[in-house]
Amino acid sequence: MEINVLVVDDSSVMRAMISKTMGLSGLPLGKIYQAANGQEGLEVLSGHWIDLIIVDINMPVMNGEEMIDRVRANPELKDISIIIISTEGSDARIDRLRRKGAAFIHKPFTPETIRDTVKDIMNLGGSDAGTD
Ligand SMILES: [Mg+2]
Repeated sequence: MEINVLVVDDSSVMRAMISKTMGLSGLPLGKIYQAANGQEGLEVLSGHWIDLIIVDINMPVMNGEEMIDRVRANPELKDISIIIISTEGSDARIDRLRRKGAAFIHKPFTPETIRDTVKDIMNLGGSDAGTD
């Protein structure tokens, strides 16, 4: 299994950092797509098969929470794995997003945190994950 990833963040620096981290993670990656806000993210999702979305919360045009709501409301997209990476500090908001089936990582983060969270939510085990 190869994981196609969509990285959605209004910071190009953060998108590059997350993409690089994924590349170094040892995870079986397919393509990594990028989008600068939720609206662009939905456009990528309408045209490409994506297995994992890594999304910021605070973005112009469409924020991460609205994007997640749109994804979860779409029968063809609703089961996609989602990880939120944000500086968001509100426990109420984080709880609400977790109930929508998203994992949460605080900025700043380490590459290991991203890797371990991806393995966890996608049920990927050790180095032999996906060999059968
Ligand atoms: Mg942002």
